[in-house]
Amino acid sequence: MQQWTCGPAVLPHLTDEEIKHNLSFGHQNLGVLQVVTAHLTSDASWLGRDAAEVKAKLVEVLINYRSSGLPANAPEKSPVFQAMCDHAALPMPQEGFKGTKKRLTDLQLEYLMDEMRGFPEIGEEVEDLQKKCHVTICGSGVHGISVALRCQRQGIPYTILERDTDLSGTWHQNIYPGVRCDTPSITYSFSSDPNPNWKYYFAYGPEVKEYLKNLCDRYGITQNVVTEATVESATFDENSSMWQVKYHKDREVKFIDSNVFVAAVGQLSNPFIPKIPGQELFEGQACHTARFIRDLDFTGKNVVVMGTGASAMGICPEIQKVAKHLTIFQGTPQWYVEIPNHKVEISPEEQCCMRFVPFYERWYRFQTLRQILASYVDVLTSGSEANTMLEEELTKYIKRKVNFRPDLVEKMVPKYPPICTRMLVDNNWCTMMLEENVTLINSRAKEIGKNEVFGPNGEAVPADVIIYATGFQSTRFCTASLKVFGKGGVELSEDWGLEPTAYLGLTRPNFPNFFMTYGPNTNVSSGGSIIWCAEIAGRYIGECVASMLRKGYKELAVKHEVHDEYNHYLTQELKWTAWDDQRCVSWYKSGKFGKVTNNLPMGLEEFWARTRVNLEDFNKK
Ligand SMILES: Cc1cc2nc3c(=O)[nH]c(=O)nc-3n(C[C@H](O)[C@H](O)[C@H](O)COP(=O)(O)OP(=O)(O)OC[C@H]3O[C@@H](n4cnc5c(N)ncnc54)[C@H](O)[C@@H]3O)c2cc1C
Repeated sequence: MQQWTCGPAVLPHLTDEEIKHNLSFGHQNLGVLQVVTAHLTSDASWLGRDAAEVKAKLVEVLINYRSSGLPANAPEKSPVFQAMCDHAALPMPQEGFKGTKKRLTDLQLEYLMDEMRGFPEIGEEVEDLQKKCHVTICGSGVHGISVALRCQRQGIPYTILERDTDLSGTWHQNIYPGVRCDTPSITYSFSSDPNPNWKYYFAYGPEVKEYLKNLCDRYGITQNVVTEATVESATFDENSSMWQVKYHKDREVKFIDSNVFVAAVGQLSNPFIPKIPGQELFEGQACHTARFIRDLDFTGKNVVVMGTGASAMGICPEIQKVAKHLTIFQGTPQWYVEIPNHKVEISPEEQCCMRFVPFYERWYRFQTLRQILASYVDVLTSGSEANTMLEEELTKYIKRKVNFRPDLVEKMVPKYPPICTRMLVDNNWCTMMLEENVTLINSRAKEIGKNEVFGPNGEAVPADVIIYATGFQSTRFCTASLKVFGKGGVELSEDWGLEPTAYLGLTRPNFPNFFMTYGPNTNVSSGGSIIWCAEIAGRYIGECVASMLRKGYKELAVKHEVHDEYNHYLTQELKWTAWDDQRCVSWYKSGKFGKVTNNLPMGLEEFWARTRVNLEDFNKK
């Protein structure tokens, strides 16, 4: 039975005055308020009314709900459901998305409603067979947590091994000033466990960490996490059909045997630091953004930042405020968009709406995802009208923001189409370039000395601190973190060579009962949040394990032909995307010919549909 995860009724303890107050003050999303009012009254005319009318009506409706204690109807049961869906595609003025006139396809709607329900379990619970199984999960970021959530719900015993001192992965490791989400917080949360307490529309790192830690405490996941446990390898034993996981903890080598092994180690957890001549001579402080030295103070210092990707975008404006001078070495210029509410706090009143107005949070999420579904194909298509228009708009934007300064325009406007690299959110990047204490060098650093970094022409830049915002070993996937030996002792990094592939990014032939998350071609780079990938992966893996238990299989290994056919399809699909453009260098590309190995070349709904487990895809034992 599919259940709605939130929004059944108004909290009974709210007084009439509190309900009025929360709807009268603070910013609320008008489009969402209109949909919610139409939903609760079953009257589509509310979709066209103004804010004052809608709010007054909603107060009346909520007081009635509060007094009656009756639950609200599920959205799809509403007689005005289709009108609500269409309306939820209108522009969101505060959020910076454009409206769409496209109607959702049946598949898109089916997917969205499943997400709105929190991706409920498929099939029945696994009962007495549970004791016969154990799952080891390596990594406690959002993917590890998602798999653990599924195991927890199905009663399947599991252990998470985490090499760091605390859980939450990216959000524990990235503590540099300014670290934050660049996807909306409302979608950077599990659909099954929305967070009504987000303080910002785009949450800062510590807020995300707090959300994930609370979630793990609430579901009892925390007690199954072993921290400071570094997995060295996982080896499949063909006689027992078990994985032997070797790890280091407390300076001892330990082993754990499991039926299923999941490498949930992320694409962005192993920093990449380029080798630069003289690096070891440097006498100042130096660190990668993901290994930031706590309390590192930039005040009055000459700071050099290598890189201009997402992490540089986050940290540089913070450094500029206090540093004597900030010099940025740019390998690749970036495209970025302005999002009006990027740094805006969610008002306490709107937080209350998220919490107590039935379906406000759900429709907000629906609206955000709806925009992503609508724009995915057009803007991503290389050479399309939408992509060309975006390039023109963004070029104008950069020029205007840097006051048409020719030197900055020349350096900052990319010479490849937008979306080809990760689209960033402008974090005062352009305006920061106009400050006197900032220099942008359009090249990688050539050499490093004791107290300086040398530019392409040998010019010396004084440096007290060097920050490497140089990204991660993204294209090695889990093989950057550990060794995985499948059937016949084959090692994963050798098996897939320089162009990693997997079926659904999750599993590979010859590696039975092994799953990787955030694997090859799963990155939703053109919208959507990685928590979405994590939920999809968690459900797939949970369902595979449950199927093994129900049917009594010891092994599930994806068939070669299924893997090959899927990857042939991906290769064809990638050809029309801007990611494949030969002019740009990005962390999505791998191998000799720059194959796009990281991104998912299909809409959210298609991947959602493909990741319903089909046991015919597997060889079984
Ligand atoms: C600064 C930053 C901002 C980001 N912002 C966004 C955003 O706004 N929206 C978005 O969708 N995505 C964002 N991302 C991408 C982000 O990586 C994903 O959203 C998500 O956190 C990935 O989760 P994960 O579980 O796959 O991996 P991670 O969070 O990287 O977790 C992997 C875990 O595995 C552990 N591990 C690795 N190797 C081993 C080993 N051998 N033994 C034991 N443990 C191991 C690591 O310590 C880590 O805790 C951002 C990434 C960064 C770096």
